[in-house]
Parts: sequence; structure tokens; C-alpha cells
Amino acid sequence: MAQSRRQNKRLGIYVHIPFCRKKCAYCDFYSYCPHDARVYEAYADAVIAHMKSYRDVGVDYAPDTVYIGGGTPTSMPPEEMLRILHGIRSSFRVVKNAEITMECNPATADMQTLRRYRRAGVNRLSIGMQSSNENELRALGRIHSFGDVKRTVRDAREARIDNINLDLMYGIPFQTFDSWRDTLRRAVALRPEHISLYCLKLEAGTPMCENASRYVFPDDEMQFAMYSHAISYLASCGYEQYEISNFARRGFECRHNLKYWQCEEYLGFGPSAHSYFADVRFSFKPSVSEYIKNVVGGARGALTDEYEQIPARERLGEYVMLRMRLNAGIDRAEFFRTFGKDFDRLFGQKLARYVKGGFVKDTGGAYRFTTSGMFVSNYILSDILDFDADGHFLL
Ligand code: SF4
Repeated sequence: MAQSRRQNKRLGIYVHIPFCRKKCAYCDFYSYCPHDARVYEAYADAVIAHMKSYRDVGVDYAPDTVYIGGGTPTSMPPEEMLRILHGIRSSFRVVKNAEITMECNPATADMQTLRRYRRAGVNRLSIGMQSSNENELRALGRIHSFGDVKRTVRDAREARIDNINLDLMYGIPFQTFDSWRDTLRRAVALRPEHISLYCLKLEAGTPMCENASRYVFPDDEMQFAMYSHAISYLASCGYEQYEISNFARRGFECRHNLKYWQCEEYLGFGPSAHSYFADVRFSFKPSVSEYIKNVVGGARGALTDEYEQIPARERLGEYVMLRMRLNAGIDRAEFFRTFGKDFDRLFGQKLARYVKGGFVKDTGGAYRFTTSGMFVSNYILSDILDFDADGHFLL
């Protein structure tokens, strides 16, 4: 009888793999290189046990996206990664056509391993290419060459992974407009289904930030030129921009990341992983040893780092912030259906000067950023949305 009460609500599953072979010079994500190989096995055990503790969720939810991110998932020993992939399916009713993505550093994956992951369900590979220029890759502290990227794409195709993303970066030390153009051209030549662009940000505490005076960075004007060129070049090559930083051939938009921007539910596992579930946003503390200890010891409460019930008015602020990232922007009618409020009455006046300045387009049915608006979207959003001292949205 319980079977007949089952619902099939959609859900995203995120698993964080906090390991990398070597830390990149600019990176402030939670990841490290374990010196003791037994950590991988203990970590896989902990993630699997943690997911199992959510089995009840499987009664109502059928995950349609899974994202294995990091860190570098492909730096895990394949046996441990395969155990995690099987663990996901034994804890959740993952739907048949689910999008299952794995992030990959090009120096850490071989064809045989990719074949095994494909057989375990991975059908999308997100490759951290960043640049095709060897000097730029060296400045970033990446452990791979562009040759490794080409080989990984070839291996992934051989392994029958037919949905590939390439991550590219602009704003890299010593990068020029020409070298960026070259990176884009060589990325497109590899025929990925999806391309993501990131602007390098100097994060406090990273080696690159601490030694910033040794580098020459492209200035804001150059970064904008690089971003605008990428948008027009990728459009001319058949990649549609659907989000500030994301471009895809039609039908290959990342379904998992769309969940984040469309305020849909997802559960994250692993240290520093975030979740949005049943109107609560929460994350786990960024420590592998604490994570293993608390999962194994059953002290789930001790895992939690941030925990916040999201009231309706906060949801409205989040909706505006996340939806405006999408190329489709905010549809007035949908906003009214979702919140019972008139978008123009709340934000129309504040947005008017950005419409006038060419940063936001009012299409009649929707508001959306133009290319120049996307480049400064954080500034515009913080201007139109009001937050209190604790960062809570004020209506
Ligand atoms: S591979 Fe990715 S997660 Fe690992 S150090 Fe480099 S940027 Fe950070």
C-alpha cells in the first residue's frame, strides 16, 4: 500500500569529492591531497552511509540529476568512486533518463576508467580545460596541458559519453585577447555540447592572491571585451547562452545547474556540500575528518554548518537573484503566479535606470540582462535588492 502513496517529486543529488592531486594557485574550494590512501575508502564509506540515512526521502522523490563535483572526482581511486555511484542508486530511486555528471581534471582520467564510469551511469563529463595556452595553465597551477584535454575528450567519446562540458577561464595572468580567442577556437574545435566561462577572481588566502604583484592581469575593460567576444563567437558556432556563464547546443543545457537557478530542490553530500530541501538551506562543515567521524558516529547534527529555514519573502529575493542569471530573465506573469505580487510594483522603478542605461532589457513580458548587464549583474542585483545586516532580504 505504501507503494501506491509514492510520489515522484524531482530532486538533484550533489556529491562533493574533496580531493585534488595538487592545489591550483587560485582555488579556494574545499579540497586537499590526502597523504594516506585509506582516506578514500573511509570517505566513500561515509558518503554511502550518509546517503543511506536519507532513504526515507526516496519514498517521495525520484532524483533526475546527479552531479559528482569537487575537488577532482577523477582523482578518487575508481573502485571507491564506483562504490559511491552504486551507493547513490541503492539509496535513491534515480530516474532512467537522469543526467549524471562527473567533473574531471584532464590529467586524472583514462579511457578505461571513463568506460567504467559510463557503465555505472555517468553520461555527462565536465572537463576543467581553462585555457589552451600552456603558459596560462602554468600560471594557474593546473597539472595538465592542452594535449591532455584533447586526449580526455577523445577518450570520453570512445567511452560513449555524448555530453561534454568544457570549463574555460578568462582574466588569467598574462592572458591576451588573442590568446583568449585562440582558447575559444580550440575549445569549439573539440565539439563539446556545453561550454562554461569563468572570470578569474582573486580569492583571499590563495597563493595567487598572496603573490598578486608578480602577475599581470587583464584589466576590467579587457575582461569585458573577452566576455563579449565569447558570447558572439559562441553564438556564431551554435552555442546558445542560457545563463550568465553557460552556453550549450540546444537540448544540452545542464539540467542539474538549472535546478539551482530555478530554486528547485537538491541534496548535497560531503563536507562543504550545500542543500536546498523542504524550504531549508543547509550545508555541511568543510572537514573530511569531521565528516567521516560524525557520519560513522551517527552524530548527524554535528555535521551541519549553516542551516536556514527560508520564509516566503526570502524565497522571493532568492528567486530574483537566481532567475535573473538566466538568459530568459524574470517573466512577469510567472512571478505573479509564484508569489501573487506584481514584479513591476516591487522592482520596476529601481530597474528603470538600468533599462535606460542598456544593462537590462524589458521585453514586455520579461526583464532580462543584456550582455553588459550580465557582466555587472552582481552589482545591479545588490542595488535592486535590499538586505539587512545579516544578509536577509528585505521587501
Ligand atoms: S582542480 Fe579544481 S578543485 Fe582542485 S585545486 Fe584545482 S580548481 Fe581547485
